[in-house]
Amino acid sequence: MAQVAARRDVRDADPATPGIALEGVRKTFGSVVAVDRVDLEIADGELFAMLGPSGSGKTTVLRMIAGFEQPTEGRIRLAGIDSTDLPPHRRDVNTVFQDYALFPHLSVQQNVEYGLTVRGIGRAERIRRAGEALDMVRLAGVGARRPDELSGGQRQRVALARALVVRPRVLLLDEPLGALDLKLREQMQVELKAIQREVGITFVFVTHDQDEALTLCDRLAVFNAGRIEQVGAAADVYERPQTRFVAGFVGTSNVLDGAAAAALVGRPGVFGIRPEKLEVLPAGTAAGGGLRSTEGTVAEVVYAGSTTRLIVDTDAGAALSVVQLNADTGPAALRRGDRAVVAWHPESVRTLESASPTPPPEGSA
Ligand code: ADP
Ligand code: MG
Repeated sequence: MAQVAARRDVRDADPATPGIALEGVRKTFGSVVAVDRVDLEIADGELFAMLGPSGSGKTTVLRMIAGFEQPTEGRIRLAGIDSTDLPPHRRDVNTVFQDYALFPHLSVQQNVEYGLTVRGIGRAERIRRAGEALDMVRLAGVGARRPDELSGGQRQRVALARALVVRPRVLLLDEPLGALDLKLREQMQVELKAIQREVGITFVFVTHDQDEALTLCDRLAVFNAGRIEQVGAAADVYERPQTRFVAGFVGTSNVLDGAAAAALVGRPGVFGIRPEKLEVLPAGTAAGGGLRSTEGTVAEVVYAGSTTRLIVDTDAGAALSVVQLNADTGPAALRRGDRAVVAWHPESVRTLESASPTPPPEGSA
């Protein structure tokens, strides 16, 4: 088996073979189940996000792909090759850590060259390739500086250049923008996407920020308590959340259940509807054809520049959050205490599973 793996050139893998495949992966630390029954396939060249709250197992999954942790159960294939038992340096994978882990006493150039130096690559080629990597992250010209002479955003780019310089097949990024302030983070999201497109390798990044995941990725997996609740294209997961958890964690949703669901949707169940899919009108206004509507009292009006968020306490019992775009007409004239009509297209309502779709683990009684 090891011989087969060694002889095969992973870069010539069948394009139908996923770049990364996790099969029934479970990881426990003592009595803590960090990751449970994760099955996941990531294609070559994807920009893939693992999204979930703190403690949901994202970093542990990333560390198992990198080889820093061994799964307790299950297999990990990289380019079709069972790599579960391979040490990190035998995997064609590199990691950018959240704290960047730059060497403080080395120059930027030396930091970027590091992976080439340990691979015994000659000086001329090291200089050329480190220069190319620094160009790619738009840091040409700072090679002589030390990390402490750079801004947070620049340090982040050095970490990226240092990981890319060895031309891994897969780049893993654990909360890569977590240390940056909001404006810089938004700018780096756009740049990271451009860099990924340019190098064309698989990027798997971990984030707890749903806006970041939606902005950056092609596809994402939503983690909850060590399991994946949903995998799909960003727009698909946002538009068609399958569970109560995903509906609430990826964006905000009005979740309807019990009597309010029956009254508003017309059948029993658990349903989600996004605040921007609701329209709020002054009481007495007829909703358009094909729309469902309900009456209620405006409980809150929050003006937020481009949008206004209203909370309407419906007579059916559910409080609905509504987001209106403050387009040409400006904010709605509705005030706290006003009676209002809330209307929506029936197709905007999503049926949710209230619990995780995966079965409980064996032996858990
Ligand atoms: P995330 O990255 O989503 O925040 P982690 O993968 O870091 O989550 O952690 C998942 C769970 O596993 C948490 O409950 C965490 O405390 C636990 N955990 C992670 N690493 C270790 C470890 N080395 N030893 C013990 N528990 C750990
Ligand atoms: Mg983490």
